[in-house]
Amino acid sequence: MKAMGPIPPGFTADSDSMLLIGGQRADDLISTAGGSPLFVYDRSLIASQIERFRATMPPAVSLHYAVKANPYPDLLRFMDRLVDGFDVASAGELTRLREVGTTRPISFAGPGKRDAEIEQAIREAVTINLESEGEAERAIAIAETIGLQPRLAVRVNPPFALRGAGMKMGGSASPFGVDSDRVPALVARIVQAGADWRGFHIFAGSQSLSAESISEAQAATVALAADLADRSFPPPLVNLGGGFGIPYAPGDRRLDIEAIGEALAKTLDQRPDSLADTGFAIELGRWLVGEAGVYLTRVVDRKRSGDRTFLITDGGLHHMLAASGNFGQLLRRNYPVAIADRFGCAAAEEVTITGCLCTPLDLIADAVELPRADVGSLVSLFCAGAYGRTASPGAFLGQPEALEILV
Ligand SMILES: *Cc1c(COP(=O)(O)O)cnc(C)c1O
Repeated sequence: MKAMGPIPPGFTADSDSMLLIGGQRADDLISTAGGSPLFVYDRSLIASQIERFRATMPPAVSLHYAVKANPYPDLLRFMDRLVDGFDVASAGELTRLREVGTTRPISFAGPGKRDAEIEQAIREAVTINLESEGEAERAIAIAETIGLQPRLAVRVNPPFALRGAGMKMGGSASPFGVDSDRVPALVARIVQAGADWRGFHIFAGSQSLSAESISEAQAATVALAADLADRSFPPPLVNLGGGFGIPYAPGDRRLDIEAIGEALAKTLDQRPDSLADTGFAIELGRWLVGEAGVYLTRVVDRKRSGDRTFLITDGGLHHMLAASGNFGQLLRRNYPVAIADRFGCAAAEEVTITGCLCTPLDLIADAVELPRADVGSLVSLFCAGAYGRTASPGAFLGQPEALEILV
């Protein structure tokens, strides 16, 4: 038997043990949406995360949503009412935001921005987080050609990384951001070119469950921004990055964001004068939406091989690559999973749940103890609200796309 990650709070069962998501039965949701596999996103869980952020972070810190975590249009429309701004990583994400009609501030980070993407960002008054001196020169030239003032910020490749992060960014040579020692010269160039100077974007890593490490990275980020400001121009905004993680695996603890809020309030109260008029933002994806999503898939086959029982479902890694352990993890560990039509019932057997792809990589849960499931049963995979459908190889093996619904 292998353990699985903790089922996130906020899920209950109907009187017949059917999983309820946002108060609706999993089987009804599949009927409403038109079949399985289905991603269900619970808006009340997202709203309560945002409320918790607001209650704990210093009021001066604005909250941005990182669209790449989940760009489902209904979800973006919902987020638009609750967050202060958006961060996109491509013109495609920018177009998605336009389709939902947001008027919030948007910033655009990411390497390899093409000229047409830069032009679209300038025309739409989006802040471009510049990833290199070359990109800065292209943005300045494009802005001149079209006769508009570009909003430019510099993404800094910090000399430190977020300790213990699932994905570190910073502390080494990187395709992301400009090495901090070269930033003052670049800022001078941007200001001299007549651009609207927007400030710094400093992202040190992702998926950390340590409040202490995040607070340490935030304090180092503020100190770095102050140092860069002293050597160039005061930044109107410092984007402190994010890095707030969620528990996915056995033994993972929930992030203590109250401790982060307290430490950040202190850091900002004591900030150097060069940042006196600076605004601050935190950009989050997975912490806001990850635990609010459930991936529902149906058991197509139940079989024995050797001494093991396999449940084969109609879903798989083409929709939830991360749960299969193939999304950058060093070690595969089981996401939280349940039999949705026996939610809360006692475990009765050890099963391995796979998807329908013809590859041994397509594992949903390995050797977990669950209530009895048969052909037609529903499997619910939790922590599926971020880096699910759009972070998976949907075209692989010609399987149907997953459906999505916001409840
Ligand atoms: C991916 C990314 C985020 C969001 O990370 P999460 O772990 O989903 O919170 C934020 N900012 C930048 C620059 C990113 O690349």
